[in-house]
Amino acid sequence: MKLKMAISVFVVCVLLTTFSCNQNTDEATSKDLLDKNGIDSSVKPQNDFFSYVNGTWIKNTEIPAAESGWSSFAILYQNTTLELKSLLDSCANLNAPKGSNAQKVGDLYTSAMDSAAIEQKGITPLKEDLQRIADIQTPKDVLHEVAVEYDLFGPKKSFVKDASHLINFNASQDEENSNIIIAHFDQDGLGLPNKEYYTKQDSSTINIRDAYVQYIAEIFHLSGDDIALAKKEAADVMKIENALAAASKSPVELRDPKANYHKMTLAELNQLTPNINWQQMAGYLNLKQDTVVVGQPDFYKALGNLLVSVPLNDWKNYLRFHLIDNYAPYLSTGFVNANFNMGKLLTGQKKIQPRWKRMVAFVDNQLSDALGQLYVAKYFPPEAKERILNLVNNLQATYKDRIEHLSWMSDTTKQKAIIKLNAIRKKIGYPDKWKDYSSVTITKDNLIQNYKNTGHFAYRYMMNKIGKPVDRSEWFMTAPTINAYYSARANDINFPAGILQPPFFYKDGDDAINYGAIGVVIGHEMTHGFDDQGKQYDANGNLKNWWLPADSANFRHKADLVVKQYNKSVVLDSLHINGELTQGENIADIGGISIAYEAFKKTDEGKSDKKIGGLTPDQRFFMAYAEVWRSKMRPENIRSRLLSDPHSAPMYRVNNPLSDMPAFYKAFNVVPGDKMYVADSLRALVW
Ligand SMILES: [Zn+2]
Repeated sequence: MKLKMAISVFVVCVLLTTFSCNQNTDEATSKDLLDKNGIDSSVKPQNDFFSYVNGTWIKNTEIPAAESGWSSFAILYQNTTLELKSLLDSCANLNAPKGSNAQKVGDLYTSAMDSAAIEQKGITPLKEDLQRIADIQTPKDVLHEVAVEYDLFGPKKSFVKDASHLINFNASQDEENSNIIIAHFDQDGLGLPNKEYYTKQDSSTINIRDAYVQYIAEIFHLSGDDIALAKKEAADVMKIENALAAASKSPVELRDPKANYHKMTLAELNQLTPNINWQQMAGYLNLKQDTVVVGQPDFYKALGNLLVSVPLNDWKNYLRFHLIDNYAPYLSTGFVNANFNMGKLLTGQKKIQPRWKRMVAFVDNQLSDALGQLYVAKYFPPEAKERILNLVNNLQATYKDRIEHLSWMSDTTKQKAIIKLNAIRKKIGYPDKWKDYSSVTITKDNLIQNYKNTGHFAYRYMMNKIGKPVDRSEWFMTAPTINAYYSARANDINFPAGILQPPFFYKDGDDAINYGAIGVVIGHEMTHGFDDQGKQYDANGNLKNWWLPADSANFRHKADLVVKQYNKSVVLDSLHINGELTQGENIADIGGISIAYEAFKKTDEGKSDKKIGGLTPDQRFFMAYAEVWRSKMRPENIRSRLLSDPHSAPMYRVNNPLSDMPAFYKAFNVVPGDKMYVADSLRALVW
């Protein structure tokens, strides 16, 4: 089930996690780029700025049936997906030279769109895999199967919904020596998004859990077991997942990088988990190194015990279910529908997305750089890169000023903060060096084999990095992605070409709009280097303290105000934002808009008081910000995000940071008694 939100134990932060998709936003230079038609003038901007700017848009917007929500991101995603579709359609019809990127993406897309062939094959493409699982004889064979599947599906990626595995084996920078890539073993193995889905006792979570067990049974039944047997097998699989969940950390506990870092040798790991032979496991994975990082040792202790205490037959069912579930979206209709019907409980989608849309996302995920290269050549103008870089540099210089003027930090720590800020590597648009897929075979007529071939490539690519110096040019998002990220280990910020378009960035837009939209995104990502997690890493990406204790205590005090502010925010019924889970993103939002505003004030427009479209430059800046966060979501999606998403709900991404900013009070004349008004001592400005 492709349910996992893009949350990982890596300290890499994204602007948002998922999005969805209709209508075109044409860039128009002649008219005001702000959408005044979206304003709800029955709401006072001083009481609820988000609803003032977006209220009429929200009232008039119907979420498309195949979507879990509708938003500025979704609209842009829809447009970009249509561009990718047209690229893939032309590649598919091109008869491109065999072995070229165009041939590979075109044929992968053709094989994914050939629903007649897929239907006719049913589950037979998995015959060999299912036989391999049926042949399992011992607990060590279970681990062997896990390793084989890594080679089939490839590793998990940080930002996409990926195949699930019993363990999370990945190659990433060593937190204590950020120049080297080391193998990491983290917790995993759950089909539902995280531990809380297995432990919470409210009726909505219980319903999801019950539906999940039914879904497991349905997968067994679809693959040939009678209903009674399928139900029993499903209950046994759920028992394993409940035990894994009990031994797992919660999303909040995963936010502490030090507590999730345990470097050890394989011999030490053997002592920790006597039931797992780690030298043998390393052999299965083709891992040559003797020292690894274990994220959550308690998870592996529990797994070791479960491998011998749970009947082997239940393990075989567990593996069989997850294998089929991972492939379900690419098999015949019964599997696709069962998978969708489970997923929609978490997203609220009424209808499955059209096949082309799902398969464009699949090609983007599997042959990222091949498609990305074609995409930027056609859709990303080189001059955009230059203008963005200029913006990033302005923001960075402003951030430096702000650090220098902070009242709560000593000069010693300020100097270190500025060294770290200046060391941030800026990656814009797309990688300097694209991945070479020449070893990957793709044919027009075999989707599952193509999936396996691309998974095998991704796995070998990952394995080839372990023990070697870090390739700092690598990207972890694809070029068309409508998102951005900061990596604490790399100390870099990454803005894929996808997000460098309207309504985030207008190449001919006025500065108020560009600073209020993409400027805030840039400030947000830079601030991640200094949020509750990022602050623990130094300029080189090492998990190493550079703070004087008093400065750290002052930071904590400020961050606690952020946690308190967001804990009060009610999103749905009585459900609140989890201030702890979202604190890093909230600190980044508040910092991002403060820095972007100050940088905007250095531009000609920022310095002037000339109105455009009846609005002052400051008013335009804040409205542009609120507009990019316009969003309407289904309740199921809101609930899922509250449990898993480290980002706050869009309304509070707008209203809370603005309630902290003196410039907003001035621009819209907010006074005591207004709902947006927050007493000075409670304002949560960190950076
Ligand atoms: Zn973020």
